[in-house]
Amino acid sequence: MNGRMEVAQMMGAEAVQGPWSSTISDVEAMAEAARCLFCEDPPCVRACPTGIDIPLFIRKIASGNRVGAAKTIFDANPLGSSCARVCPTDELCEGACVWGKSSRPVEIGRLQQYATDAVLERGVALYDPPSQPIPYRFAIIGAGPAGLAAARELALAGAQVTVYEREQSPGGLNTYGIPPFRLSEGVAVAEAEMILSLGVRFERGVDVGMHVRPEQLVDSCDGVLLACGLGAGKRLGIEGEELDGVMDAITFLRMAKEGRARAGREVVVIGAGNTAMDAATTARRLGAERVTIVYRRSEKEMTAYRFEYAFAKSEGVQFRWKLMPVRFVGEGAVQEVRCRQTELDPSGAWRLAEREERLSADQVIVAIGQARRWDLLDAFQVPHRDGAVTVDEQGRTRRPKVYAAGDCVWSGKGAEATVVVAVEQGKRAALAMLKDARSRRVEHGLATEGSAWPT
Ligand code: FAD
Repeated sequence: MNGRMEVAQMMGAEAVQGPWSSTISDVEAMAEAARCLFCEDPPCVRACPTGIDIPLFIRKIASGNRVGAAKTIFDANPLGSSCARVCPTDELCEGACVWGKSSRPVEIGRLQQYATDAVLERGVALYDPPSQPIPYRFAIIGAGPAGLAAARELALAGAQVTVYEREQSPGGLNTYGIPPFRLSEGVAVAEAEMILSLGVRFERGVDVGMHVRPEQLVDSCDGVLLACGLGAGKRLGIEGEELDGVMDAITFLRMAKEGRARAGREVVVIGAGNTAMDAATTARRLGAERVTIVYRRSEKEMTAYRFEYAFAKSEGVQFRWKLMPVRFVGEGAVQEVRCRQTELDPSGAWRLAEREERLSADQVIVAIGQARRWDLLDAFQVPHRDGAVTVDEQGRTRRPKVYAAGDCVWSGKGAEATVVVAVEQGKRAALAMLKDARSRRVEHGLATEGSAWPT
């Protein structure tokens, strides 16, 4: 067994058996589909950011039409297969299912995976590249969920689309970030390739800003979409952060996804968001004996979804609340995390208390968020607030011909940034790009013939 396989085996079934280890059999899928009440005004559809017609795809599964069900899903959500695996369904469709009030909700996520796997697994081509091209060129920066969703919509409308991606593979965090036991690289890339095969030009290994000048794209295209996501994992900026064994969660998870990560024996993860839970459970699955999440506030303030927290606990991850790391100690490699306790002051603000604590650790994973892309946003001269691009509902920035979608517009407040939201924003931005390009053409008295103009 090679090293990669060995790591994959520790990480979970999907990574070992190939991407298509469907978690539900035909019989189970039929039985589950039969539970759907086909509500008249389905709350599950309203709860889905991409508005998938859930009762319709479930009805198709019930009648044995698995590919038809997948088409219904992909029509609304170009990344329907990844979303089936990674969506916080408890918070979205399944959380809204009427069955949830009296019994368990219909397992919409598993049914969605069952349907979409049929297409990806068999390489079924659901869409033909349009026969009637339209005379527009668009550039997309980033082949993550937002960029891919926009590329699909623009390509189906018949436009010329180029996606610039600095990595070698498409998919963004689906390919390089989300742990393999939830979404394998194989599924993420296969789904991205289904989109790119619609005549999209894919420029891999091209960093916009470094290899291509932003102005060159804005001048030569009818619209440019910024779908660059967020940047590297943030650092704490405390003493000892340069020691061996200390790394940020984004790097650690990427290495895990590529089968290159090794876990220490005693691992401390700093932060209590979803990425921290992912890093901690991944470290456990890679064989760490003890994994402790350290968070400077209380359990109540933790930002991770409840189901992520419950999952981490079920994987044996331990939690220490109200502890703030102030220094990493070790000779060459980290051996200890020095922390101070925190407490609430009378005004309700968190402050450092006197008491110190020492946690032994041979690996520390810092999971306190990702940096913003100031560099790229400034290079495109788009207004932003603290690194989050300012856009209207359709993804228009304040700069004509420049649009933005996905994590790069996420303000950090309210709901977590998710794949499904990035997909919806990418779709909307594509529609705005097409509409605006057409308006400009009409303004200049030019013909607007084409196959799929939005009105
Ligand atoms: P990204 O996925 O980050 O894609 C951006 C792409 O742009 C990247 O491929 C990048 O290489 C490329 N790029 C950047 N700059 C340039 C440049 N200058 N030139 C060319 N290319 C460039 N969401 C869920 O819904 N469920 C989950 O379970 C989940 N788990 C997560 C786990 C982790 C560890 C993390 C970090 C996030 C997770 N998320 C999850 C959030 C989700 O992954 C993101 O919200 C989503 O990927 C955002 O999509 P995006 O297209 O905006 O950005």
